[in-house]
Amino acid sequence: MAKFCVFCGKRPENKNKEHVLPQWLLKETGDPTRVVKMGINYKNQKPIEFSWNSLTMPSCTTCNDEFSDLEGRIKPIIRALLNREGVSVKNYILLMDWMDKVRVGLWLNYHVLQGNPMGINPNFHIKDRVGRKDRYLAVHAIETDEPGLNAFGVESFVFHNAPVCFGLKINSIFLVNISADFVFSERAGFPFPTRREYVSEGEFAGTHRLADFEMKKNVEHPVLHPKMHKASIELVQPILQVDARIGASMGTQETMKNFLGVDSDVDSYLAPRTYPPHFQPQGVLLRQFQNQTVSLPDLEQVIEFDAVTGDESQPIGELVAQVYEYQNMIFESIAPEGVSVNDEPWKGVLNFNSAVAEEYRKRAGK
Ligand SMILES: [Zn+2]
Repeated sequence: MAKFCVFCGKRPENKNKEHVLPQWLLKETGDPTRVVKMGINYKNQKPIEFSWNSLTMPSCTTCNDEFSDLEGRIKPIIRALLNREGVSVKNYILLMDWMDKVRVGLWLNYHVLQGNPMGINPNFHIKDRVGRKDRYLAVHAIETDEPGLNAFGVESFVFHNAPVCFGLKINSIFLVNISADFVFSERAGFPFPTRREYVSEGEFAGTHRLADFEMKKNVEHPVLHPKMHKASIELVQPILQVDARIGASMGTQETMKNFLGVDSDVDSYLAPRTYPPHFQPQGVLLRQFQNQTVSLPDLEQVIEFDAVTGDESQPIGELVAQVYEYQNMIFESIAPEGVSVNDEPWKGVLNFNSAVAEEYRKRAGK
């Protein structure tokens, strides 16, 4: 595999090394010279381990610098969550950006670490995904005195094919991140494609063509459907895809235009549902509670950290099992027409995840 920059995908300029899991996070979670555990090899039931230094990817110096600012802003946010403190809407959006960065960074890193077992040619990189696609973040408080850092779901075959969902344990919090094309748009009231087709030929071969957009103009609860286990925080952000490059590659530019200036009726719905200046791609955050979903249009508003207690509190193994199950669900929901998850190779790919989920659940004593 030719060397590429983890951020922009081009040949790295003034080559630098990017630690996909940053040094500050490693220091925050234990001895920085230790090995990092990443998921489980479910055949021998042992954690997959890497030395931290192997978790690096080439990057351009400029790309690296561009993102080092984000790292600096995430540390106090993680600390606040470890202390069960409130965090502003604005900072949760930054945290979601960071989770996009880590998710895509680990996906690219695993191509290298595992020798690209699915034979995929990565067609996007960190810069193409930070804040560009519908996304979800859950923060679970876990009862533990043991520090530690562990990523879950990043070694699965579903994730290799589509890095749509992963879990990240940082000391006493467990973060779940989901992101994919228009995965929440329908239930969030945003424009969504009613057709997903696989493009097998031509310039955009291997991509999905999304077509026949519709819009329901109301938020359906729960936006993440079905619901995950109750978390202290659950946030969904629908994102309009108006980027010309993404639009062109997926055939959405024409259809999306109708929602951005041509149809004034639709405009009046979307305008107050994006952050100022309106018509930015990023939709207003939706906070999902167990019985309702509320929108958070004020970027300065503080989102309080809810306690989850008693029967509603889950062991970490159960939360991890969910990550593998949601990978399957999201994968199925975005599968293009003609792709049957009951046929190989997809059947085997999904069964692998079901087996991993079952293993974690067994270990969690459920
Ligand atoms: Zn670069």
